[in-house]
Amino acid sequence: MKKITFIGTGYVGLVSGTGISDFGHKVICADISKEKIKQLNDGFLPIYEPGLAELLKKNFDAGRLSFTYDIKKAIRDSEIIFIAVGTPEGEDGASDISSVESVAEVIGKNINEYKVVCTKSTVPVGTGNHIKSIINKYNINNIPFDYVSNPEFLREGSAIKDFLWPDRIVIGSENKKSLDMIKEVYDPFYINDKPILSTSIVTAEMIKYAANAFLALKISYINEVANLCENLGADVKDVAKAMGQDGRISSKFLHPGPGYGGSCFPKDTKAFATLSKKNGEVMHTIEASIQSNENQKLRMVKKMKALVGGNFKDKRISILGLAFKPNTDDVRDSASIIMISSIIRDGGFINAYDPIANKSMMEIFGEINYFNSWEESCKDVDAVAIMTEWNEFRSMSIERLKQLMKKPVLLDTRNIIDVKKLKVQKYKFDNVGRGITDVN
Ligand code: NAD
Repeated sequence: MKKITFIGTGYVGLVSGTGISDFGHKVICADISKEKIKQLNDGFLPIYEPGLAELLKKNFDAGRLSFTYDIKKAIRDSEIIFIAVGTPEGEDGASDISSVESVAEVIGKNINEYKVVCTKSTVPVGTGNHIKSIINKYNINNIPFDYVSNPEFLREGSAIKDFLWPDRIVIGSENKKSLDMIKEVYDPFYINDKPILSTSIVTAEMIKYAANAFLALKISYINEVANLCENLGADVKDVAKAMGQDGRISSKFLHPGPGYGGSCFPKDTKAFATLSKKNGEVMHTIEASIQSNENQKLRMVKKMKALVGGNFKDKRISILGLAFKPNTDDVRDSASIIMISSIIRDGGFINAYDPIANKSMMEIFGEINYFNSWEESCKDVDAVAIMTEWNEFRSMSIERLKQLMKKPVLLDTRNIIDVKKLKVQKYKFDNVGRGITDVN
């Protein structure tokens, strides 16, 4: 069993560290945030992720998983160090890797015996060499180490499942010794016959961006198809279903909506486009996806405005769903942010409700009204916008909703409400690519 440290205890570091400890490895999750570490040591989760609390408690109680902000000691006590800190959008769309750089410096200063340093954070293609050079700069005693790239593909909301049952594990390395060490970490996946793809470091870094940008592109594509459906009277739900039945296409990521958000697609597409330009190539497809996604978010605002008579002034609108997707508390780059800020800017008022993400959104919009149920949030409002497809909104009674609101006006940006029922209840409504369909 390996002694492993994860530096960065966010969505990726906490889920991966917990998952790896479940296979019997001894894992230290280290973070710069004392508050986060205190919460974890006190038995509270700083993030919401289904199934994480149970798995974490099990491994914490078994003594395989611990939490610390003493990053230096964690480095010295481990054979393998995973870097899992954030890499947010930086200047000109490029990835801001300053946290990764500062972690590399701490590793260089504290390396005391041979270690494998493995990056899980999404870093621009070519960053591996840069990280190695920083470690070398501060590693004054020239203690040997190897560098590995092991990009992560988990999705928030189903992160535990994605991590424990991955489609593939990509390991970019420079020699057999470090490759074998990381393979050993993932041994239980091996038993499950999961494909481990061994590549060079730069190829592993490239795989992560190429995969994420492709998924973003797929979403933008179906969003644009949906928009055209609106103009031509076709129903995007049937179009997407038929497309998805084609094995060459697959039904995944073919759900039109208000534009992708979250902590990965928006920043990773921008970083990929910026990186390609710097390297003498223009990725026209990715640039188009970025633009299309921004347009889609604004298109939702226009739809909402049209539904309330062309002006948000003095209108009170209930936003149902704040997280960028269901089953997470993450609101980073969520489409609801653009919707809320546009309504407020134009003199409207917001009631907001999310089953989990109210608290996260309070850090962005402190002044809007938050509620603890959709019923409370929709009382006496001029209109409702469904922004996240939480299950409880799928099963919402639109008869009850109508009774609560001033007038039945609904924007369903996730296409989860039955159009037939909305027509029967005489709602004024809109959605993405289905609104003008003739319903039998
Ligand atoms: P996050 O913001 O949730 O967590 C990052 C953590 O790193 C925070 O707890 C922060 O306090 C800590 N940190 C920052 N600087 C530090 C430092 N110098 N030393 C120690 N800790 C430090 O980020 P995340 O969503 O977990 O993403 C981490 C990386 O993984 C990013 O590169 C991201 O692109 C990538 N990724 C994310 C996902 C996802 O779904 N969130 C999926 C795949 C890959």
